[in-house]
Amino acid sequence: MLGLMQDRPLLISSLIEFAAQYHGAVEIVSRSVEGPIHRYTYADANRRSKQLAQALGSLGIGLGDRVATLAWNGYRHLECYYGVSGIGAVLHTINPRLFPEQIVYIANHAEDRVLFTELTFVPLLEGIAGQLESVEAIVIMTDREHMPETSLPNVQCYEELLAAQDGSLDWPGFDENTASSLCYTSGTTGNPKGVLYSHRSTVLHSLASCSQDVLGLSSQDSVLPVVPMFHANSWGIAYSAPMCGAKLVLPGMGMDGASIYELLETEKVTLSAGVPTVWLMLLQYLQQTGKELPHMTRTVIGGSAAPASMIETFEHDYDVVVIHAWGMTEMSPLGTTGNLKANMAAWDYSDQLAVKSKQGRAVYGVDMKITDDDGNELPRDGVAFGHLMVRGPWITNGYFKGEGGEVLDDGDWFDTGDVATLDPEGFMQITDRSKDVIKSGGEWISSIELENIAVGHPDVAEAAVIGVVHPKWDERPLLIIVRNEGSNVEGPEILDFMKGKIATWWMPDDVTFVDEIPHTATGKIQKLVLREQFAGYKLPTA
Ligand code: ADP
Repeated sequence: MLGLMQDRPLLISSLIEFAAQYHGAVEIVSRSVEGPIHRYTYADANRRSKQLAQALGSLGIGLGDRVATLAWNGYRHLECYYGVSGIGAVLHTINPRLFPEQIVYIANHAEDRVLFTELTFVPLLEGIAGQLESVEAIVIMTDREHMPETSLPNVQCYEELLAAQDGSLDWPGFDENTASSLCYTSGTTGNPKGVLYSHRSTVLHSLASCSQDVLGLSSQDSVLPVVPMFHANSWGIAYSAPMCGAKLVLPGMGMDGASIYELLETEKVTLSAGVPTVWLMLLQYLQQTGKELPHMTRTVIGGSAAPASMIETFEHDYDVVVIHAWGMTEMSPLGTTGNLKANMAAWDYSDQLAVKSKQGRAVYGVDMKITDDDGNELPRDGVAFGHLMVRGPWITNGYFKGEGGEVLDDGDWFDTGDVATLDPEGFMQITDRSKDVIKSGGEWISSIELENIAVGHPDVAEAAVIGVVHPKWDERPLLIIVRNEGSNVEGPEILDFMKGKIATWWMPDDVTFVDEIPHTATGKIQKLVLREQFAGYKLPTA
């Protein structure tokens, strides 16, 4: 017997429509590329998204057509989120930090028909426009006054496109499983692969992320996603903020400590989200200036492991609760968040910190398990570590155009490529990427754990650990350090600091210093590049 409830489709347009109706006066504040701070409301955003939808119609864009953006976090980009997906076209958010040849590859692979770009990226596009095979029009997201002189073909002015429309459109209805947006994973090896979200997966993911134990986002919040809208939909905040009527603060291209601080302060931001590198810059700024964070109550840190020292600084020095989150582009992206459980409230801070340093526990909707190389499930004892497998309604079931082939096993499980433990309380801890784990004498050493401990040393700005060939043990860990400015700390001091915090056979065989550690377009350490760089490295133990 089937239930007798309405089968209304879950559509992305309903989020902005709801925000306009019930939180119409709530502000969206953006640092614009042109310079000034721009303010308007959810009611304005809905109206202008509809104008954009009409304009897309006039350019011949409809259901299933791909429309790309090369843009920062800002109000016009938000209008693309709703204007494009709202008519059943597919919003393809391109990461501008990719190499130009990768941008060409993914724009052609996606068959993008229209490309929206920020003024910042006009020179980049001029260099590659000749190679873009499917792009019929390039829309520069600015007004007539700021339109640049450019060699780009078929250029349109965003504000002029909108001005020609009256915004009288009613958002159309269609199947909730319709594709809504497309985001390519940066792919540390091989070509980037497209993750194709649906309206249904996006709305379900937003519902989950607003819930108290996940991001706890609500109409009481002023939220600033530092995480870019081209990186897994700013972890869904571009959707979840309108869903709950939170004030939305969009930082544009100003990711440095001073610029972020200014918005946190003036817009009374209560919740923010970003990768550890961004928070490192903010904390350095706060320490240099002696400024505080009086409005912020919590911050989401994810994308890479949040070091315990960073969590403690936020919580102790600035009274900001850290929500450590884990996910991936393939998961929309949220998989786990690290809010403490009720029974942990009375624990000593050091025990709480140990739990918070883990990547968190499953969000309802995400099934997780860990397995050995043969696919056998491993115990949830916090000790055994294995391949982290996930499944759920906002997790991919295959890449765009079938790239990478079949990605699910018989039980619909998706292999995240992460290696992790699961503890009896349900908290997951990443011990490595499966390709970065150091295999020493048949046993696994977690490079991430070594890095986390090393960055706890006061003279260490950043740390990376890679496996280097060893005649006896196959591989042994090499610790690569970026010193804090002005420090001349040496290897033995860092190793001394690590002693006792890990098993002796996990201790790095050597420490080396570099000026900079290479990062991917999404801010992760590029282990592959480091492995190439240190390919012939001779360990003193070898
Ligand atoms: P890419 O950077 O390749 O585009 P994603 O941004 O989707 O891909 O990255 C997903 C990966 O990032 C995860 O599989 C995991 O390895 C890593 N990651 C994400 N959050 C965390 C975290 N809190 N701690 C450690 N690693 C994380």
